[in-house]
Amino acid sequence: MKAIRVHEFGGPELEEVPTPQPGPGQVLVRIRGVGVNPVETYIRAGKYARLPQLPYTPGNDGAGVVEQVGADVTEFKAGDRAYTSGSMSGTYGEFGLCKKEQAHPLPQNVSFAQGACIGTPYATAYRGLLQRAVSEPGETVLVHGASGGVGTAAVQLARAHGLRVLGTAGSDEGLKLAREQGAHEVFDHRAPEHFEQVMKATGGHGVDVIVEMLANVNLGNDLTILAKGGRVVIIGSRGPVEIDPRNTMQRDADVRGMILPNTPPAEMASIHAALVAGLENGTLRPVIGKEFPLAEAAQAHRAVMEPGALGKIVLIPQSGKQKD
Ligand code: NAP
Repeated sequence: MKAIRVHEFGGPELEEVPTPQPGPGQVLVRIRGVGVNPVETYIRAGKYARLPQLPYTPGNDGAGVVEQVGADVTEFKAGDRAYTSGSMSGTYGEFGLCKKEQAHPLPQNVSFAQGACIGTPYATAYRGLLQRAVSEPGETVLVHGASGGVGTAAVQLARAHGLRVLGTAGSDEGLKLAREQGAHEVFDHRAPEHFEQVMKATGGHGVDVIVEMLANVNLGNDLTILAKGGRVVIIGSRGPVEIDPRNTMQRDADVRGMILPNTPPAEMASIHAALVAGLENGTLRPVIGKEFPLAEAAQAHRAVMEPGALGKIVLIPQSGKQKD
């Protein structure tokens, strides 16, 4: 099969590698869409805590059709539609091998390209909003960075859960997108006064939950717009930040970090059960911003780090181009 291979931390190549074979407890998926996540660029650049052995094929998120299953696998059969939330072989290729727990049914009403947007972004948004922040219906959430993969997912999940949803973006198109996904009010995070505007939008009460995509820029100010008992969940951060701890004291506020791979298996299974239900009933509708051919993974990696996010960036293998 053809797959992207990274031979040194820096640049990927498309080359021919053996197609993996599923062993016990494993599922082989013919990949029709690959989700590109910022973390794959950090790993490729060699700037991540856990680095794979070289050479490797990147990617956890993909969607397609089950090609073959291990002898003992009863949950899937060849021909089933599936999305992945992790992969043993990497998903930036024509096939992705995963453990059966990393494969999930992809409902008919969700395209393969959309299916590629679920594994990391939707699971992260769900984990952050519902399991870490324990957001309750009726509370107000600020999705700080509502235009990207995790942000659009968080807006849809929060809206479906009965929260009042405030969202931010850094472009007019991003603001429009956040509103279309269900944000009741939107704010431009390029404008320093957006913190004040958010506070005003809550009538001075403050927001109960902040789902934060860029904590190194925002955390200090986030703590000033929290309600009493408020929680900030840190999903993304690209450097250090100074905060005034007194802002947490005055509000009995919590700052809660999270990283998706820390999720215990039972909670992860519960996340995907909820996501599949939301996809089936149409409350979750993954948004694709841009598609690139698989061979253009390097361009996709540049694009995912540029400002002006509009949903997800998806790679399409040559063999994945047929209609759903
Ligand atoms: P993405 O699709 O590239 O989206 C990035 C988002 O950050 C966009 O909405 C962008 O808005 C927004 N942003 C840019 N400047 C901002 C600012 N000053 N304040 C608030 N938001 C700002 O990336 P993603 O996949 O959604 O991931 C978002 C972040 O979470 C990344 O740092 C990623 O590494 C991290 N992440 C963490 C986990 C975890 O397990 N903790 C899992 C997945 C992702 P504009 O482009 O409109 O300005």
